[in-house]
Amino acid sequence: MQLSNLKIAVVGAGYGGAAAAKALSLLGAQVDVYEQASRIREVGAGIGLRPATMDRFRQWGIFDAVAGVSSPSDYFEILDAGARPMLKEVWPGTDAHAEPTRTHLIHRGDFIDALLGVLPDGMLHLGHRLETVTDLGDRARLAFADGTAVEADLVVGADGIKSVVRRALFSDKEPVFSGEHAYRAVIDLADTHGMCPDDNLRMYIGRGTKVYLLPLRHRGQVSFDITALCPDDTWAPRITHADLLATVAGFDERIVAMTRDLDLGAVNVRAVYDIDPVERWHTDSVVLVGDAAHSMLHHQGQGANSAIEDAGALADALRDASSVPEALAAYQATRKPVTDELQRISRQGWTEQEIDDVFPGQKPGAVAGNVGRQAP
Ligand SMILES: Cc1cc2nc3c(=O)[nH]c(=O)nc-3n(C[C@H](O)[C@H](O)[C@H](O)COP(=O)(O)OP(=O)(O)OC[C@H]3O[C@@H](n4cnc5c(N)ncnc54)[C@H](O)[C@@H]3O)c2cc1C
Repeated sequence: MQLSNLKIAVVGAGYGGAAAAKALSLLGAQVDVYEQASRIREVGAGIGLRPATMDRFRQWGIFDAVAGVSSPSDYFEILDAGARPMLKEVWPGTDAHAEPTRTHLIHRGDFIDALLGVLPDGMLHLGHRLETVTDLGDRARLAFADGTAVEADLVVGADGIKSVVRRALFSDKEPVFSGEHAYRAVIDLADTHGMCPDDNLRMYIGRGTKVYLLPLRHRGQVSFDITALCPDDTWAPRITHADLLATVAGFDERIVAMTRDLDLGAVNVRAVYDIDPVERWHTDSVVLVGDAAHSMLHHQGQGANSAIEDAGALADALRDASSVPEALAAYQATRKPVTDELQRISRQGWTEQEIDDVFPGQKPGAVAGNVGRQAP
């Protein structure tokens, strides 16, 4: 297939859209990215970029751009609420690539800046909110809220959990409330009471609450995240400092102290949603990647990583296939079984007892029937 004549429009400049734009432009395609925001902003929080993700960056020649704003990490540890160790494991996949590749801990803002920073000038178009997508068979048409429109041979829907592209062409099912809230903040290492002695992720599990400490040593900071069962399904809930403190009652006193010291105004508060698996991710000229295709709960830390792997798999498929439809079918066949399974296991975050405590007799969809964790 002649890729240099292929006109590709990517909707959304999150991790999935930015990575797809990088990978597809390296193939020689003509890529444009349309993002609704007029300025790129990310949540103040950290994530772990797995070895497979970092290996993709190596293939794309952008490893150093990402490694330069992240810290390598060797293992993750799970502890109980009293900080007693339960499990310590090397991050999986370190030796699965041609070069040994570690997991890298990164601030979400630095990550999107690094990805967008390696795109060719002029590729990103901010302030373009997609309103409608029309599948025209061998091409598709995008119409934006500002009245402009474009046509492309391939549209990549990377527009996140509330994807307009998915709703228009693939599934009109609503996102599913997980029954939990995520409270995320970035604090100084000096304010962690010695709880971050090295560059490894620690998760503390108490009844109905998980606390994550993800060091960002290169910034002298730590991503301090609390995930707690809560029946309030408002997308951006309002909470008080007392609500926050209640989630860590009974935890190690250093975690309670860190929570007490949090500036509530600097805490990102959101209800957590995912989507049920989507049957089909593509037509002959439109395809979904990232959360648009398979938004999953964050218990496995795999959503952003999956978006990068989607981008890589889509580029591989386009490079190897003899037509766009053949490539899109191959891409879905490679990625969907993996993300279906990740969506399933990511829902197994809580014990039956924890769910019953918070939702007596009435469980939200994403947790109902998907109980997986053993009580600590
Ligand atoms: C609490 C929490 C913790 C998480 N922790 C981790 C973790 O540790 N590791 C991990 O791998 N993942 C994690 N994730 C998941 C990760 O954040 C997502 O999977 C990832 O952001 C998906 O990237 P994306 O590019 O597909 O979508 P998004 O990041 O949602 O990007 C979509 C982009 O599309 C744009 N857009 C939307 N609609 C339109 C439109 N109509 N027109 C134009 N543009 C549009 C948006 O503005 C946005 O820029 C976590 C998620 C949550 C909620």
